[in-house]
Amino acid sequence: MTCSELVELVTGYLDGALDERSETLLVVHLDGCPSCRALLEQHRQIIRLLEPTALPTPLPTALPPARRTILLAAFRDSSR
Ligand SMILES: [Zn+2]
Repeated sequence: MTCSELVELVTGYLDGALDERSETLLVVHLDGCPSCRALLEQHRQIIRLLEPTALPTPLPTALPPARRTILLAAFRDSSR
């Protein structure tokens, strides 16, 4: 799997929507690719921001909108 293939699948991976083969390939790639691990972590953080109810504990304070914009911009940059 290449990095760009991983980018295509990362959302499905976080949703648990990948088939077993794709998920295995993705995990193997992540194991050897620090930049894709960072990308995955970014996606996780964005999902947390967009779905605050999915948090195990509530955020003490909401993130200011400007910070969310910065994170979303970082996400768009990394997915190119
Ligand atoms: Zn990679």
